[in-house]
Amino acid sequence: MKSYTRVYAPIDLDAVVYNMKSMKQKLAPGTEVLGVVKADGYGHGAVPVAKALDPFVKGYAVATIQEARILQKHGIVKPVLILGVTHKSEYEELIRHKIRPAVFTYNQALSLSEEACRQNTAVRIHLALDTGMSRIGMQPDAEGACLAARIQALKGIEIEGMFTHFARADELDKAAAMRQLEQYLEFVKLLKAQGVEIPWKHCSNSAAIMELPQAHLDLVRAGISIYGICPSDEVSQEQVPLKPVMGLKSFVTYVKTLKAGAQVSYGGTFTATEQMQVATIPVGYGDGYPRNLSGKGYVLIHGRKARILGRICMDQFMVDVTGIPGVGPDTPVTLMGREDDEEITVEDLERLGGGFRYEIVCGLGKRVPRVYLQNGKVTGAKDYFDDRYEDFL
Ligand SMILES: *Cc1c(COP(=O)(O)O)cnc(C)c1O
Repeated sequence: MKSYTRVYAPIDLDAVVYNMKSMKQKLAPGTEVLGVVKADGYGHGAVPVAKALDPFVKGYAVATIQEARILQKHGIVKPVLILGVTHKSEYEELIRHKIRPAVFTYNQALSLSEEACRQNTAVRIHLALDTGMSRIGMQPDAEGACLAARIQALKGIEIEGMFTHFARADELDKAAAMRQLEQYLEFVKLLKAQGVEIPWKHCSNSAAIMELPQAHLDLVRAGISIYGICPSDEVSQEQVPLKPVMGLKSFVTYVKTLKAGAQVSYGGTFTATEQMQVATIPVGYGDGYPRNLSGKGYVLIHGRKARILGRICMDQFMVDVTGIPGVGPDTPVTLMGREDDEEITVEDLERLGGGFRYEIVCGLGKRVPRVYLQNGKVTGAKDYFDDRYEDFL
C-alpha cells in the first residue's frame, strides 16, 4: 500500500457496521434497510461502504444509473434503486442490469414497459410519491391513484415499491413529517381500493429512522447516519449512538517564526500582534476543505488545537502552533477526527464555518485518497486521481 504524505481521509469501515447495527436496534423485526450510497457514498467511497453494509441491507439506493453500475461492476448483486429521474435514453441499460427506477409519470412507465417487452423481461419499479418535497413524484390524490393503476396494468412493469421523502424529519417538531406520512398512508389505501398493492412501502431517511418509528413501514433508507453523522442538531444522538466514519489527516510542510506585524494569506486578514510560530498545511479548498473555515477553524497537532490563521487557499493554509513543541515538516495534523482527548467532527466544521455537514463530506475532493480501515488495519484505498481502487476488502 502506498503511503500518503500530503493528505488522506481514513474511512473506518468498522464504524459503518457499528452505525448500521445501532440503527437496526430502532427498527421493528422485519423492517428492512436500503443503504443510501449516492454521491460516492457521501464522499466516503460507495463500493467499500456498500460491501461493509452488505450483510445488513436489502439493497442500495443511489442517485444515478452510473452510480448503480459502479456498485454492480464491483460485485454488488443486491437490488439497487435510483432515487432520482432516469433519462429515457438509459432505460435499455437500466433494464438489462435489473436496476430499479423511480417512476411517477405515465410516459416514463410506458417507455419502460416498451423497453422491457423488447428485452422480453419485466422491470421492477418504485413509484415516487410527492407528499411535500415538491421535487419528484406523483400526487397523492385520486388522479395519482388512477395513474398508478394504469402503470400497473402495463406489460412488463412490476411495482416493487413506493417511496416518499421527508422534507423536515430532522426538525424537533415532527408535525410536518407526520402530515407527509399520513398522506402517504392514505394514498396506500386509495391504491388498495384500485387494486394496486405495494410490496415495499418506504418513507424514512436517517432522521425518521432515529426519531419517527411510525414511519418505518417495510423498508427504511439509511443515508447520513451510516456515515456516523447525525442528520441535524435537532435530532437526538442519545438513542442511536453513531461513530464518525471519515477523518481527514495531513502533515505539516513548513514552520516559521512570524514577527509582530506580519500578515497571513490572501487579503492580509490576519496580522500577528506578537512573534508567533506558524505552520503551513498542504490542504485547501481545492481538496474540498471548506474555505469558510478561514480564520475560524482549527486543526489538531500533537493533540492540541492549532487555530487557522487568515484565508484558506486552494492548496494550503496556515495555523498557529505557538507554544506547541516539536512541530516541523511531516508532523501529523488532524483536520477531522480524534487525537487523544480532542476531536474535530464534521458537525464541528459545520458549526465553525457555517457550512452544511452533508455537503462537507460529499465535497471532499478527488485529490484526497480514501484509506479504508478494518480492525484498526488498512485494508485498501481509493485513489481518485488514478480513478482506481487498490487492494480493498
Ligand atoms: C438522500 C436520500 C435519502 C437519505 O437521506 P439521509 O438524510 O442521508 O438519511 C433517503 N431518501 C431519499 C429519496 C434521498 O434522496
